[in-house]
Amino acid sequence: MTAQVAIITGASRGIGAVIAKQLAADGYAVAINYASSATEASKLVVELRQAGHQAIAIQGDVAKSADIKRLFDKTEAQLGKVDVLINNAGILKALPLAQHSDELYNQNFDIHTRGTFNALREAATRLNDGGRIVNFSSSTVGLNFPGYAVYIASKAAVESLTQVFAKEMRGRGITVNAVAPGPVATELFLHGKSEEQIQGMAKMPPLERLGQPEDIARVVSFLVSPAGGWVNGQILRANGGLV
Ligand code: NAP
Repeated sequence: MTAQVAIITGASRGIGAVIAKQLAADGYAVAINYASSATEASKLVVELRQAGHQAIAIQGDVAKSADIKRLFDKTEAQLGKVDVLINNAGILKALPLAQHSDELYNQNFDIHTRGTFNALREAATRLNDGGRIVNFSSSTVGLNFPGYAVYIASKAAVESLTQVFAKEMRGRGITVNAVAPGPVATELFLHGKSEEQIQGMAKMPPLERLGQPEDIARVVSFLVSPAGGWVNGQILRANGGLV
């Protein structure tokens, strides 16, 4: 039997890389998208192939619709038609709203909102019926942290795209959900923070620790599995009870 096929955007590092490992272990052939971390993406492909899984790496900036089209083209040519799309690619550069440059504003909305939009639009005609889509928001949408206005706004838009697109997939058997992690120990969260700030945020949820990429990958694994098939159009906050 040929394996089902999953595309994971931003899977060279961080949460996306662990999702790729989890979905490969779940039996999917995985397409690992990245923007610039070619070395990390190829290392992950080698690791997964050595473990007996099907994996390919595909460069592409999610903010560019032509790159997303190419991501689907290459995945279809090398692995087959796509069953699962994980829109995970993201950045975090927290700054008070007043200090945002036009460029940083655009970057947030281009990667998170436009990137998710580009991939959803492509998936609308190219995902197999019965497929699964998981977008990435953030628990900061519920926290309204000062310094995160533009990041939060670009992720809030992803939540809206998720809820409407789930309805637009009526009749196709495709579920569309979003995961909204709290702080997860990856470069995106840790970069530029003092040990004190990190420990302070780690203590905030009642479970009193930072999330690990594996915590999030297991949630994604559930949502794309038959066990998660009745969850649709939802935003699942995975954050140890933070908000
Ligand atoms: P990360 O460790 O910084 O990894 C980000 C990944 O996204 C990298 O693989 C990067 O690839 C890729 N990427 C960035 N811009 C891209 C673009 N334009 N096109 C394609 N890929 C791109 O971040 P992470 O912590 O794993 O975050 C993953 C997702 O979870 C993001 O959407 C983030 O907003 C969300 N999230 C994270 C946290 C957290 O605390 N970590 C909390 C809430 C939500 P390159 O290296 O090749 O650029």
